[in-house]
Amino acid sequence: WAKASGKNRLVTYAEGMSKEAQDKAALRDDLAHALELGQFEVHYQATVDFRDSGPVPRAKGYEALLRWRHPERGTVSPLEFVPLAEASGDIRAIGAWVLRTATAQAAAWTAERGTPVGIAVNLSAVQLGDDEVLTVVREALRDSGLRPHQLTLEVTESVLVGDLDAVSGRLARLRATGVQVAIDDFGTGYSSLSYLRRLPVDTVKIDRSFVGDLAHGGSATTLVATIIELARSLGLDVVAEGVETEQQAQVLRDLSCTYAQGYLYARPQAAQDVVAPAPADAVPSDAVPSDAVPSD
Ligand code: C2E
Ligand code: MG
Ligand code: MG
Ligand code: MG
Repeated sequence: WAKASGKNRLVTYAEGMSKEAQDKAALRDDLAHALELGQFEVHYQATVDFRDSGPVPRAKGYEALLRWRHPERGTVSPLEFVPLAEASGDIRAIGAWVLRTATAQAAAWTAERGTPVGIAVNLSAVQLGDDEVLTVVREALRDSGLRPHQLTLEVTESVLVGDLDAVSGRLARLRATGVQVAIDDFGTGYSSLSYLRRLPVDTVKIDRSFVGDLAHGGSATTLVATIIELARSLGLDVVAEGVETEQQAQVLRDLSCTYAQGYLYARPQAAQDVVAPAPADAVPSDAVPSDAVPSD
């Protein structure tokens, strides 16, 4: 093994490693220190409610999306570094940080806006692989003061590769505390239908690959209609991911899809750039939650 050290990092590579393998090894080494160096950021993308009649649908809440600002490479996509962090186990600490950051942000928006703001956080299969996730979620809620029902945990089919009973048991325990569970990228896995039966869930997020084909009609429309029907029959909420055009939105509304997320409404943004929706649905002042702290 040869070693080349740089600022705050140690690059290890073996004789005969390909250029790409060396590059990946360097990225993996940098990733190990990214959290302590403060290189992560959470961005937030709104989910809108189709049932709103106004021109600008109101946000149901936000999805927390992790960003890594690499000092030399710029922004590295989670699609690139999350698998590396899963392999190294770093995703546990990183994921816990995302949960703390996102719940604190949702609690801050809730206080600012005077109405509960929902937050969805992506969970890795690795995080669901042990009981630590129960503590991490509980502490994030306790420290932020966020109500459990304001938090949604998004999981993909990849959670099924582990011990299914243990994973669904953990999700069930989290749900029993009021936290919601969503199946992400629904429809892309080979066993999508079976995991609806096996996992305790509240929401299905239709993968954007189907949404992208919607305006062309045909099989994508039939498929999305079927997913929405299925979800409805199971009493689940449906979010369409990756809505980019008004045409797609129209088809989804016609299919009675409830929620949507996509560039048409909002891109993922840094917390300080997120603009609160106009209070078109402003609640009368006597509708203050009964558990609100009295002002006297
Ligand atoms: P995801 O959970 O399915 O998140 C949705 C992805 O679609 C995000 O990509 C978002 O920026 C993108 N997106 C949203 N609307 C549109 C649209 O209208 N058009 C297009 N083309 N894309 C849209 P992003 O932020 O790059 O994240 C990619 C994936 O990385 C996520 O997919 C999620 O699986 C994973 N990820 C992100 N943050 C975290 C995290 O904190 N923890 C874990 N474990 N995974 C994360
Ligand atoms: Mg997601
Ligand atoms: Mg998704
Ligand atoms: Mg997706």
